[in-house]
Amino acid sequence: MHDLVIRGGTIVDGSGAEAAEGDVAIDGGTITSVGGKAGSGREEVDARGLVVTPGWVDIHTHYDGQVTWDPHLTPSGWHGVTTAVMGNCGVGFAPARPDRHDWLIGLMEGVEDIPGTALSEGIRWDWETFPQYLDALEKMPRSLDVATQVPHGAVRAYVMGDRGADNEIASADDIAQMAAIVADGVRAGALGFSTSRTRLHRAIDGREVPGTFANATEMMELGRAVKRGGYGVVEIASDLTPKQDEFAWMTALSRETGLPITYALVQNELQPGKWRELLDQTAQARAQGANITAQVGCRPVGMLLGLQSRVHPFVAHPSYMAIADKPLDERVRLMRDPALKARILAETTTITDRFRRRPMEQFDNMFALGDPPNYEPPPEQSIGRLAAAAGREPNEYVYELLLQRGGREFLYFPSLNYADRNFDALDTMLRHPNTVLSLSDGGAHCGIICDASAPTFLLTHWVKGRTRGPRLTLEQAVHLQTRRTAEVYGLRDRGLLKPGLKADVNVIDFDNMRLEPPVMAYDLPADGRRLLQRGSGYRATIVSGQVTWRDGEATGALPGRLVRGPQAA
Ligand SMILES: [Zn+2]
Repeated sequence: MHDLVIRGGTIVDGSGAEAAEGDVAIDGGTITSVGGKAGSGREEVDARGLVVTPGWVDIHTHYDGQVTWDPHLTPSGWHGVTTAVMGNCGVGFAPARPDRHDWLIGLMEGVEDIPGTALSEGIRWDWETFPQYLDALEKMPRSLDVATQVPHGAVRAYVMGDRGADNEIASADDIAQMAAIVADGVRAGALGFSTSRTRLHRAIDGREVPGTFANATEMMELGRAVKRGGYGVVEIASDLTPKQDEFAWMTALSRETGLPITYALVQNELQPGKWRELLDQTAQARAQGANITAQVGCRPVGMLLGLQSRVHPFVAHPSYMAIADKPLDERVRLMRDPALKARILAETTTITDRFRRRPMEQFDNMFALGDPPNYEPPPEQSIGRLAAAAGREPNEYVYELLLQRGGREFLYFPSLNYADRNFDALDTMLRHPNTVLSLSDGGAHCGIICDASAPTFLLTHWVKGRTRGPRLTLEQAVHLQTRRTAEVYGLRDRGLLKPGLKADVNVIDFDNMRLEPPVMAYDLPADGRRLLQRGSGYRATIVSGQVTWRDGEATGALPGRLVRGPQAA
């Protein structure tokens, strides 16, 4: 008698191998048989007509604060994620000196757009060091596994104080102290070390993340510290400008230590072909023996413009700014007044930064998202084109769209990975041997982006719905977000349906799987706002052999654990 049997499903095992029908048996949190006919189980899940996959392993999330109050890490928990890796991009909440809590919250709020009031109310701060943070995470029951990385920004501020926050050059002594913290963190179970090297990531006070300008000596020493601590990934969010020459130290570090290094790769509209050069550089580095992998998304980094979100075309028009703090319903009523409308439309945005102005004026890259949401809309459906066809000014056209559904309408502005107005670049990135699926950014960018639903989207769009280019097979898509992601982070105990591995499983009604349009919720601590997106089709999600979600409802089972360090098969 098995503990749990998933009966008669179409098994997509995560390896990329062809699907096959059969049973999956689980005993004591471990998979004991896959395929064929299993004996009876104390509990059974009827999977006839359904797809059975490993649980998703999402390696790029920012739940570092939320993980201390939310056992389900929604929205990721709704989307079949059974392992979430946090601590990305150099930001996190440990180590944390008691007098630096507000500063760390401001860093996270600035970089990842997570409401500071929510973090202040939600985080209990029963730690100071990184190992103490891990202990605090371990004490809390949860429905999915979590793992984290030592964030450069927090380490630098911990050791160097304001000098670190100001991005001053680290002394040899600073570096030695930081390296000791990194090594201790990895020894205690961090899956790696992360750093932000992009000028787009700024604390709430406008300063870049500590470490943004850290020199190669500092990066090499902190990388060596990961190796001293055991094993871990070095994760980098960088602008990758020629001046930074990241590949030089990344290559040297990986060749010397053997550690995997992974960096975020996106298609930038200002240099739409640069991602190919970076993939070429990655291949060259690998040819020299460096283990470098590019993290890529499966859809654009999609900004959702609307009166409820942080950005829309009129946010910096003075007459709008005067009413911006009023409740939504009142704003909508005021904006319907023809006199105010005329004033707002007559003004121009006060934002001067070229990159930040794009979602305010680039109407040919602005789309109605629709229901079901269309994340790969054709150029002829852009607001700019629709307005022209209707003989309207695009800004007035947008203004009226924003007022629809009582001001709850969202417009889609694919800000990265959509320079060609299609997914051809993403298609090449996703299939490339030196990439790994990532960048869902779960838990982050609450006021403007909700891409934590990416694991569901990979199936609904890339396998089922895509009409503007080639699709992925179900086997390919499942592999990308199970075994592939797990392997890059050294989690060899999961991501595959195979006897002896951890029993993390999704049972999916693939034919009826769909994504709902995103909505704004005010359900973070202190009524903080965040964009949420639900999906349907997950009949059951299973973590360590226990059903944690059934048809979109949490069962109450909390088998999730903190993962400490790489895991053997
Ligand atoms: Zn990130």
